[in-house]
Amino acid sequence: MGCGVIGLTTAISLREAGIDAGIVTAELPPATTSSVAAALWYPYKAYPEDRVLSWGRRTFAVLEELSGTPESGVLMREGVEIWHEQVPDPWWATAVPGVRRCREDELPQGYRDGHAFVAPVIEMPIYLGYLMDRFIDAGGSVEIRSLSSLDEAAGEARVVVNCAGLGARDLVGDTSMEPIRGQIVRVSNPGLERFVLDEENPDGVTYIIPRSLDCILGGTADDGEWDLEPNPDTASGILRRCTGLEPRLRGVEVLEHRVGLRPGRPEIRLEREDGDLPRIHNYGHGGSGITLSWGCADETLGLVRETLG
Ligand SMILES: Cc1cc2nc3c(=O)[nH]c(=O)nc-3n(C[C@H](O)[C@H](O)[C@H](O)COP(=O)(O)OP(=O)(O)OC[C@H]3O[C@@H](n4cnc5c(N)ncnc54)[C@H](O)[C@@H]3O)c2cc1C
Repeated sequence: MGCGVIGLTTAISLREAGIDAGIVTAELPPATTSSVAAALWYPYKAYPEDRVLSWGRRTFAVLEELSGTPESGVLMREGVEIWHEQVPDPWWATAVPGVRRCREDELPQGYRDGHAFVAPVIEMPIYLGYLMDRFIDAGGSVEIRSLSSLDEAAGEARVVVNCAGLGARDLVGDTSMEPIRGQIVRVSNPGLERFVLDEENPDGVTYIIPRSLDCILGGTADDGEWDLEPNPDTASGILRRCTGLEPRLRGVEVLEHRVGLRPGRPEIRLEREDGDLPRIHNYGHGGSGITLSWGCADETLGLVRETLG
């Protein structure tokens, strides 16, 4: 159950492996957290690192291949992650071919270090539509229903896969789930192609993700914050910080303000829970749901196969 990026990717993997899987969900993709994501392949606020690295490596490869399918909304783009201090190589570097140190001329004034790398940029409204079409083409169906327990999802099913994101907090009583609030500003694209990440900006996490027609500017990562209303002061701060890094953003048209609640958890829950109705949990991906989606879907498929014998 669940129709965000995790539910859709998992359901596609199951159906394309010949397993008769359907989706039950409270909300369709445009209303999910997944549709708010920036979205760049980048491991952020998701744990544990060893599993994240292996799921991320697999997902990178799948997304890179999808970038050859224009209707998927996946682009391969070069960009930089910049720092005020010297930093070691990123811990995720083995998952990304060709990560290199920035040249000095690639660093904005006041920054001392950085990494340049090519990674998938995923235009979520397009990508979620592509995933939905692929699921339906594979014979899948979607039932819109809010559940108060996983048993309600089962019907005739022999196993339920829980991809409820933050919804798992209520659905299975997982109080270790906490929102990590993210606010973004969507603006017109003045011709930018490179992404910029400035995670340690003293005024707040800052990123610029250029897509084909617009740019996503961010952001925030506020632990335990549930407010879904965009805050105007926060939006002004995002615009100011991003324009400081990329002056071509000055005066761009603001198209939209959005907030999403990342499904934060001390560790991603991807495991089987046995019982009369076996369940497989696949939730709690924090700021990395897209980055880990295909790797997690593969592992879930393995658990479903084991369960069905
Ligand atoms: C501002 C922002 C920027 C981000 N940027 C990135 C990025 O660049 N890269 C990246 O990898 N990740 C990024 N993320 C994180 C990413 O969006 C999430 O990790 C991901 O969307 C989680 O996907 P999900 O499918 O688990 O959850 P969701 O998208 O929230 O989907 C959950 C689904 O479960 C359903 N559901 C929940 N409870 C119930 C219930 N009781 N009954 C029935 N259905 C239920 C919902 O209706 C929904 O369909 C970002 C997030 C934000 C907010």
